[in-house]
Amino acid sequence: MGAYINQHVLNNLFYILVSVFVFYFIYDHGEIFKKRTSYRNALLTACMGFPIILCMKFPIYIDEQCVHDFRQIPFLIGTLYGGGIVGFILLLILLAARSLIYGFEYITAIVYMTMLIATALMAPTFHALKRSNKLSMSVWLTFFLAVLVTLLAIIIADFPVTHSYIVYFILLPPIGMLFIVYIIETLKEAMIMRSKLVKIEKMEVVSQLAASISHEIRNPLTVVKGFIQLLKTPSLPQNTKDRYIQIALDEINRAEAIINDYLTFAKPTSDKVECLMVNEELQKVVQMLAPMAHMNSIEIVKKLEPGAIVGNIQYFQQCFLNLLKNSIEAMPNGGTLTISSRLHGNHVIITIKDTGVGMTAEQVNRFGEPYFSTKDKGTGLGTMVAVKTIQAMQGKLHIESEVNKGTTLTITFPKAAD
Ligand code: ADP
Ligand code: MG
Repeated sequence: MGAYINQHVLNNLFYILVSVFVFYFIYDHGEIFKKRTSYRNALLTACMGFPIILCMKFPIYIDEQCVHDFRQIPFLIGTLYGGGIVGFILLLILLAARSLIYGFEYITAIVYMTMLIATALMAPTFHALKRSNKLSMSVWLTFFLAVLVTLLAIIIADFPVTHSYIVYFILLPPIGMLFIVYIIETLKEAMIMRSKLVKIEKMEVVSQLAASISHEIRNPLTVVKGFIQLLKTPSLPQNTKDRYIQIALDEINRAEAIINDYLTFAKPTSDKVECLMVNEELQKVVQMLAPMAHMNSIEIVKKLEPGAIVGNIQYFQQCFLNLLKNSIEAMPNGGTLTISSRLHGNHVIITIKDTGVGMTAEQVNRFGEPYFSTKDKGTGLGTMVAVKTIQAMQGKLHIESEVNKGTTLTITFPKAAD
């Protein structure tokens, strides 16, 4: 066995490994490949086609019957990770290279066609597997396919099976597959981990908000403290006392409003980023607001379809609480509040529509600006918190509003990867 592992075997493995690294290097640095599966598959085809040609051009060993090399490893990897179409193009590359370098052999075509069909059929199952199961499946698949096509070749072409054929075509490729799939999965995991970290960093923006908000609450408290101290002054006329008390009460109300706009859902351990179902979370927020809507004779219409996104549940709830509260406050004389969620391609789209007072173009422009409020006792913090949260969760907000007709907010989030 030892004699079979030589320089050429290592060279073949090296071609494949380098191609895998090249693939991930380009994939990692080109946003376009992450957005469009077709681009990713084209890259995968190129990066697996190359080692197929190299393995054939510099094979391990050649005898009269066949050329021994590891071309089936990049071929199977491409088909498993890219699917049937990638596999088919790789098959064409393989057959073209074979014809150009060594001449066409119809048995080669049959062998790799069989491999392609079986592997393409297994690809969806493979994708759904856990990492360890992927490893064992790729090993067994490679082994059984090698045995199967060998039997086929024996039946069809009376193919002579030699020692080196058994080693290079049946025994070594599964081990090579194990090695390559392991490396691919490790690289993939590292990339996923890093993009998760970026998301968590974005959420930190929102955490910083918390710090600035607590500062906001301190201001009214300082005012309250001052006026209560003034109340201790002896022989203060009653009307002055009443005025001081009123100022203190107003400031306390302001502090309360700020807390409501930011901290309704805050919990000590609220930095966690997880997969959340928008329909379930929106349902909870709507339930919280139902009494308030009822009091203003507002009808709530819900069209909530399931959709999963990645984010922090508390911030998500706070964000939509603030937006929905504004919609309800925009309809002091009643109206309809329509809230919907639906899946659209790679996005989850949430819309909030009210039939309220609406906003002028200038107000729409200032939406989300801190302390911008058209209400007597407004904080101007609700929309700021909501906008910041949407940004942190990589969402987009679109506003359509007409004065005295109403406002429609459309919020688009990237769908959570399944
Ligand atoms: P507040 O509600 O305390 O005024 P917000 O930051 O929540 O502060 O809202 C800022 C301003 O944006 C509001 O005062 C209002 O003028 C405007 N606004 C937000 N949502 C709506 C809406 N659905 N309809 C009309 N105006 C809105
Ligand atoms: Mg508000």
